[in-house]
Amino acid sequence: MNIPLSVPNFEGNEEKYVSQAVKEGWVSTGGAYINELEEKLAEFLNVPMTVACQSGTSALHMALVEVGVEAGDYVIVPTLTFIAAVNPVKYQLAEPIFMDCDESFCMDTKKLTSFIEEKCSFDGERLKLKEDGKVIKALVVVHVFGNMADLETIMELSEKYHFKVIEDATEALGTYYTEGKYKGKYAGTIGDFGAFSFNGNKIITTGGGGALTAKNVEELKHLKYLSTQAKDDGLYYVHNEIGYNYRMTNLQAALGVAQLEMLPEFIKRKNANYELYRKLLSHQEKYCLRGFSNNIHSNKWFYALEVRTSTSAEDLKIIIEKLQADGIQTRPIWGLIHEQKPYRECKTYQITQAVKESERIINIPCSTNITEEEIGYVVEKLENI
Ligand SMILES: *Cc1c(COP(=O)(O)O)cnc(C)c1O
Repeated sequence: MNIPLSVPNFEGNEEKYVSQAVKEGWVSTGGAYINELEEKLAEFLNVPMTVACQSGTSALHMALVEVGVEAGDYVIVPTLTFIAAVNPVKYQLAEPIFMDCDESFCMDTKKLTSFIEEKCSFDGERLKLKEDGKVIKALVVVHVFGNMADLETIMELSEKYHFKVIEDATEALGTYYTEGKYKGKYAGTIGDFGAFSFNGNKIITTGGGGALTAKNVEELKHLKYLSTQAKDDGLYYVHNEIGYNYRMTNLQAALGVAQLEMLPEFIKRKNANYELYRKLLSHQEKYCLRGFSNNIHSNKWFYALEVRTSTSAEDLKIIIEKLQADGIQTRPIWGLIHEQKPYRECKTYQITQAVKESERIINIPCSTNITEEEIGYVVEKLENI
């Protein structure tokens, strides 16, 4: 047996569309597949427009640029996530302030609220950290593993205290609310900006790639312009702003169009496989397959297994190595970002839950092409540990 954690699945029109792009010679940052991907993604998400770009990281970076985050500003971020959600804050020479998660792995909005009420001041225009008077311009919220953060609270805070909300929906393409104020709304379409990723391990892939959407279409059009080197005239090379080479290529977009066709099917399979794991693991004392919020329909991108007997990262390491010896690839949840070398001096607020999760959660194989036998095998090997 050799069961990877999460691999791409090309059962659809991938080869056909990519060959077409090659045949036509449109492989770079122009071509029909880019427009098609942007339009179809916008249709799927029920938004007016999306911009395809080079990666989820570049999408997040562009959002911060548009917000006007710069040196001397703060951006509120989660500590329990992939580091790509935070690095763009540093690209802008701003500083992150790290927040804890709750049981959903997403940002703890009770702690966020008390942080703002206790540690910040609001002068009617700007939210500032009391300690040094620097402005908190934005908040990056991550919909971890396809779960969805409590956006009702976050958007209320954002309206009250005038900071922008950037949704990192890179793991949550296709997740939407089934209840509440935002019923029917997809992850990434509620905040001021929404970033998506099509990296190899995401629910759909373009090899590497991403997309961005925004509440304000003018801002989004501006970002599309910035992503293509801020070119005002393609013939005479006139540039009136500093741009980026962040545009997606047509070759990637060809893959993306084919993958997007498969997305509803992939979401179904992720859900079915999750249910199978849950059934097979239900009588287990040692493990608990963690749930998703009940006010959403999740894409169930990644499965989080709580190892109840584990009290340290060392305990998890033993389990991960044993499974590896049986041909099963798993991984621990991320190393907390505020503990990583470039971020150790940054401000944090009451981080406790994220520490606990990092000592007891592993991700188990979740590819859309995993078989029932393979799931059975994973569960059997887990039982034997
Ligand atoms: C994958 C991911 C990203 C970055 O996406 P890339 O396309 O790899 O740049 C950002 N944030 C989170 C939470 C991710 O999982």
